[in-house]
Amino acid sequence: MNSALIKRFCDFTDASPTAYHAVDNIAAALEARGALRLDERAAWRLEPGRAYYVVRSGSALIAFRPGLRPPAEEGFVLEGAHTDSPSLKARLEKGLPGKGMERAPVEIYGGPIVSTWLDRPLSLAGRVAVKGQDGKVESRLVNFARPVGLVPNLAVHLNREINKGFEYNAQNHLPVLLSSAGKEAEKTDGEASAPALARLVAAELGLEPEAILGADLYFVDAQKLAVLGPAGELLNGYRLDDLLGCHAVLEAFLGAPPAPHGQVACFLDNEEVGSRSIQGADSSFLRDVLGRVSALQGCTTEGFYRALSSSFSISVDVAQAFHGSYAEKYDERFAPLVNGGPAVKVNANLRYATDAEAEGRFRLFCEQAGVPCQKFMSRADMAPGSTIGPLSSSLTGIRTVDVGAPLLSMHSIRETGGALDHEMMTAALGVAFATKP
Ligand code: ZN
Repeated sequence: MNSALIKRFCDFTDASPTAYHAVDNIAAALEARGALRLDERAAWRLEPGRAYYVVRSGSALIAFRPGLRPPAEEGFVLEGAHTDSPSLKARLEKGLPGKGMERAPVEIYGGPIVSTWLDRPLSLAGRVAVKGQDGKVESRLVNFARPVGLVPNLAVHLNREINKGFEYNAQNHLPVLLSSAGKEAEKTDGEASAPALARLVAAELGLEPEAILGADLYFVDAQKLAVLGPAGELLNGYRLDDLLGCHAVLEAFLGAPPAPHGQVACFLDNEEVGSRSIQGADSSFLRDVLGRVSALQGCTTEGFYRALSSSFSISVDVAQAFHGSYAEKYDERFAPLVNGGPAVKVNANLRYATDAEAEGRFRLFCEQAGVPCQKFMSRADMAPGSTIGPLSSSLTGIRTVDVGAPLLSMHSIRETGGALDHEMMTAALGVAFATKP
């Protein structure tokens, strides 16, 4: 097993509790390898073969290496993953004080397995908007990286039926308990000028609560990623969907030598809520970057369309791994195994972008990398989830394959995947970046 790669993945995941932190860490890794940051507002000058990256909204990043030959002739190889994960988003401005306890209201982001967020230490991370020294709005990252609260369940004695299944109501049942100061505090309930959460965040940043103008903060797992199994072959932790994809794409991009074709690594936000935002797959971001790179490499309008038609893209997410306790939920012939290798994801109704030719290409990358390739198709009477693949391919016209590392308990606060799969996916993606599209 490539333990250095897994160690880097653990460090990356532990430091990336939100999309903002993931992008920050991807940017740092790119800069450490000499990539140059570009601003969408500035004029760009590009050198073929050099690595660049651009960040949009703080939560999406596209890195690219312009090809050594004209894009119209060679096209681009793209690999993409998403930076966001299901979570509980904090509502900062108003708290829920009462009986000396302070609770923070939340909203559900994406589709988590809600029960897994309960009765466990939760940290808080994200970004806040504050007034900067120049009088303009400035974004500041926040990562408590320690427990700040939890969502307590109701005792089984007060809900004897809970083990038959319980629907948690986001408004009533999911506020996060931050403190309980007992009788004394009850007298001053609600008298503080700012709610407990706002005071907590302000103190962390060395600010007054009134200085916070807006917040994108999430209650996240406070525990680190765990490596388990006799050979350290299982990874268990928060946000494996899709930090596994992000990290594999990043590693493959960093390791790829310059090529005649352009190489593009996309880390897009908001996949878990449909990708429609200025920094998601259903936005102009990718096409804007490809258009600018092509124009700066001398492409005419026609040349740009030729470049798109000559390109190939891999949408890297996770795949539903076979779970022996729920075998009836799978078509076992198309249910990938954890540590069995990357899975190509196929769906007749195009929940995945894969077509026969795209599948064939990915199979050849795996073959060349010397790794097995599995296939995921949901039961014919069930619809699978979707990915960034169908959106980014339809917006750019670039043929795309959807692939993923097999994952158990997808959208739990702690998901389980395979260390070997991460290694194999990274190897296959490395071959793809080096191969003419
Ligand atoms: Zn995903």
